[in-house]
Amino acid sequence: MSLIEQILNQNPHVHIHDDKRVYVEEIIHSLIKDGRNMLHVVADFDFTLTMYEKNGVRLPSTFGVIESSDIIKLPDGSLLRDKSEQLRLKYHPIEIDVHMDVNEKIPYMIEWWRSAQNLFVLSNLNKSFLHELVFQSNMELKKGVREFILDLLTSETPILIFSAGLGDIIEIFFEKEIPEFKHNHKASHIVSNFIRYDTDGKLLTFNDKLIHSFNKNEHEIHDTSYFQTILNRPNVILLGDTLGDIGMIGGMKNLKQILKIGYLNHSTPAKLEVYKNVYDIVICDDQTFDVPNRILKEI
Ligand SMILES: [Mg+2]
Repeated sequence: MSLIEQILNQNPHVHIHDDKRVYVEEIIHSLIKDGRNMLHVVADFDFTLTMYEKNGVRLPSTFGVIESSDIIKLPDGSLLRDKSEQLRLKYHPIEIDVHMDVNEKIPYMIEWWRSAQNLFVLSNLNKSFLHELVFQSNMELKKGVREFILDLLTSETPILIFSAGLGDIIEIFFEKEIPEFKHNHKASHIVSNFIRYDTDGKLLTFNDKLIHSFNKNEHEIHDTSYFQTILNRPNVILLGDTLGDIGMIGGMKNLKQILKIGYLNHSTPAKLEVYKNVYDIVICDDQTFDVPNRILKEI
């Protein structure tokens, strides 16, 4: 029995489009044949590496770690949490509207991200407080993510974490959960929205290059050190949880084998059909990394 057959037989919540079965078998066969030296991994962070929910409770995203705090105040005395929620109510329906064209959504997404970031700037946040928030938050890695990342680091297989969330929160969270992962290190990299602090650690502003839900494809990674790391590695495993995450490899040239694994949170039959068209392997409502680990171990 092939690896894919085993995975599908043992996991009824894992799906592959019927028309892609042979193709996926071939990709996995090539990934195994080419081995680790040809491989790199590109992963989204929020709700791909982290849990979407636990025991029926929704867990926070990187933005959510700050936005769910009930003590951060804006200059007018209102709570950052309430203002952020107002933004979410306005823009999230646009983000997930299936009838609206992506190009139409983009200006709203930019407005949302900029407004959310501006609230952080107004809130007088500093580095040490962000540390506190992350260490107190209930953000949690999916079960098996630590094992997955350590496996990559040990074999010096490059991993890029490509996030439209907050890079600083990811860094602090890894300090806590996977201290072996270092940003812009030998085989571990983060491309995301990063905060600029002043010399006292006060949050001043954000990087100019904004990454939101729908522009991951526009981010040229040529000027990052990650590009050098993957020059001779044409095979990639992509891991994401939104349709926009497919764009993470948009700026990479000369790729040979691409295995796209999508986590579908809050799945419905209609969403599953769309995800099966976009991703090679779709994993529904699963808070573990069992399937990616199973595949990685073979390579
Ligand atoms: Mg995500």
